[in-house]
Amino acid sequence: MRVANLMVGTTLAEVAKVIKVGVTTRELDEIAETYILDNKGVPLFKGYKGFPNALCISVNENVVHGIPGDYRLKDGDIVSVDCGVKLNGYCGDSAYTFEVGEVKPEVKKLLQTTKESLYAGIAAAIEGKRIGDVGNAIQVYCQSRGFSVVRDLTGHGIGKEMHEDPEVPNYGKRGAGPLLKNGMCIAIEPMINLGRKNVKFEKDGWTVRTADGRPSAHYEHTIAIRPTGADILSSFEMIEKVLNK
Ligand code: MG
Ligand code: MG
Repeated sequence: MRVANLMVGTTLAEVAKVIKVGVTTRELDEIAETYILDNKGVPLFKGYKGFPNALCISVNENVVHGIPGDYRLKDGDIVSVDCGVKLNGYCGDSAYTFEVGEVKPEVKKLLQTTKESLYAGIAAAIEGKRIGDVGNAIQVYCQSRGFSVVRDLTGHGIGKEMHEDPEVPNYGKRGAGPLLKNGMCIAIEPMINLGRKNVKFEKDGWTVRTADGRPSAHYEHTIAIRPTGADILSSFEMIEKVLNK
C-alpha cells in the first residue's frame, strides 16, 4: 500500500514540475500516465467505469472527476489533480490542489483550510474512533472558517480495490458510523467549497462542479489506521519540494 501511494506522490510531483499558465490539462495527464507506466505501475483511474484518463483534473468551480482535455491553465486558476496507481496488486490514491500564477487571497485561504482540514481528519483517525469522528473534524474545521463541505461525494476504504467500504464522508457526528480498526486503510479527501455546498453533475457523466460556480478545493491522502495515530501512506513531500513550500 505504501509503495503504491508513494508512486502517486512522485507522479503528482512530476505534474507539479510542469503546472503553469498555458499548459493544457491533457498535457498534465500524458506526463502522469507516461511516468506511471515507465515505473511499472497501472494508472488506476483509466478505464474505471469508462473514465478515459490517468488523472482527474478539476479546475476552479469543478470539484472532482474532471476529464483532462484542451483547457489551457490561466493565471489565477486552481487545479485539483487526483491520481490513482495500482502496484503489486495494491492501490494508491491521493490528490492535491495546485495554484496557477497569482491566486486571489480568499481562494488561497480556501486551499490552505482544505489542506489543514485533511490533517484534522487524519488526526481523528485512530483505532477505536469512528468514521463520524473523522468527518466531524473536517466539517467543524472548514465551517468555522466560513467554507462549506460537499455532501454528495465522500472518501472511501481502499486496498486491493480503489473503492472499498466504508464510505468516509467529510461531515458527520462524533462517535457515529463504522469503527476504525487497526490496519484498516482509508482515503480521506475533503472537497470544500468557497460558496455553497451544493454541486451539479455535468452531462459528460463525470465532472462535478459547484452549483454556484464558485471555486472548490480538494486534497486527499490514503492512510492506515493505527492504535496511536494514523500512518499516512501517500505523501505531499515530493510535490511541495517541487513547489518550494
Ligand atoms: Mg483520489
Ligand atoms: Mg479517493
